[in-house]
Amino acid sequence: MGTNRDIFLKHMGLPSAQPLAIEIDKAKGIFLFDKKGKRYIDMVSGVAVSNVGHLHPEVVNAVKKQLDKHMHLMVYGEIIQSPQTRLAGLLTQNLPDDLDSVYFVNSGSEAIEGAIKLAKRYTQRTEIVSFKDAYHGGTHGALSILGNEQLKYAFRPLLPDVRQIRFNDENDLNKITEKTACVVAETIQAEAGIILPQAGFLKELRKRCTETGTLLIIDDIQMGFGRTGKLFSFENYRIEPDILALAKAMGGGMPIGAFISSGKIMKSLTFNPELGHITTFGGHPVSCAAAFANLKVILDQQLSEDADKKGRRFEEELASLPLIKSIRRKGLMLGLDVESPDKAASLLSEFANNGLISDRFLFRPNAFRIAPPLTISESEIDLILDLIQKSASNI
Ligand code: PLP
Repeated sequence: MGTNRDIFLKHMGLPSAQPLAIEIDKAKGIFLFDKKGKRYIDMVSGVAVSNVGHLHPEVVNAVKKQLDKHMHLMVYGEIIQSPQTRLAGLLTQNLPDDLDSVYFVNSGSEAIEGAIKLAKRYTQRTEIVSFKDAYHGGTHGALSILGNEQLKYAFRPLLPDVRQIRFNDENDLNKITEKTACVVAETIQAEAGIILPQAGFLKELRKRCTETGTLLIIDDIQMGFGRTGKLFSFENYRIEPDILALAKAMGGGMPIGAFISSGKIMKSLTFNPELGHITTFGGHPVSCAAAFANLKVILDQQLSEDADKKGRRFEEELASLPLIKSIRRKGLMLGLDVESPDKAASLLSEFANNGLISDRFLFRPNAFRIAPPLTISESEIDLILDLIQKSASNI
């Protein structure tokens, strides 16, 4: 059969033309270890997943306890399962009053699909507005609202009635009309390279949606669960979405997502006709148990509150590095520009040589990201800063 590497390269579908292809055996906290014991630091939290670090003991314990009780029982939404109800209870306790009904799914893309379907059913409209340079997932609906033609043209025709507007352009908000079912927006455009909203932009977006009876869907899939200094990123901007899409860091390393709205809106998937969205594994009990423990850790250890301080250290210490041309940051999520895409590629491979794992952005090839687990300690930050400086001096 060959080595794991042979099988990986020959027998697995791989989206990336040049995968990292290191072989990881174990992970703990901010560290990943290969078979020979070489240590890597996960500077991107498995891309916005491991906010509480890899293999957090509370999450592991919750998974083990749930495994002793039951795994899958029945398709989603037919049977009362305490891992789901406990999680829905804790989530809604920590959300605005109008976000009080949770639909559990398997992934970020499915959360977006569900959110869009819900908006269409509730408003009885078809038009969807999204932003240029936005990424919302890989399924056909999510691809339809992707803000980058290069990644989607090969899949056309996609959903009709999709309009794309510019992020941070208040004039473009007039393109949201009484025909628009929903606007799908990230508060901070992640794959565009951490593009922050200009002051007041999201408030204006909220206002325009309310004026036109359009539902505002906030995609908090990459920025949620403490990453930006608040539990959910929209809290930074004093707006409330009509529908919130979550995934990634929600499960503490287990796969789960959700779309959340008011009970009134959510009911439109239940009637006329019923079964508006169905899923077999959405809200898998083991994932829900992990997600409950994960959320408790974030809340109890006040990880959101510390994210800003930790992020600021990276920003302040890296700003003077000649290689770094600019930094955009919210909380412990940083996008750092270097001179060119080639420089970024060399830096990423030098990082890997020095045991640091970072990643590029989909739509900003001259940049890389820093978003380690929120549990990172001050001395671990020192270690990363040293390794970044060492890597930078080698290219
Ligand atoms: N939305 C955002 C902002 C994302 O960053 C991603 C994934 O990177 C998704 C949606 C899709 O999530 P998933 O990969 O779980 O389908």
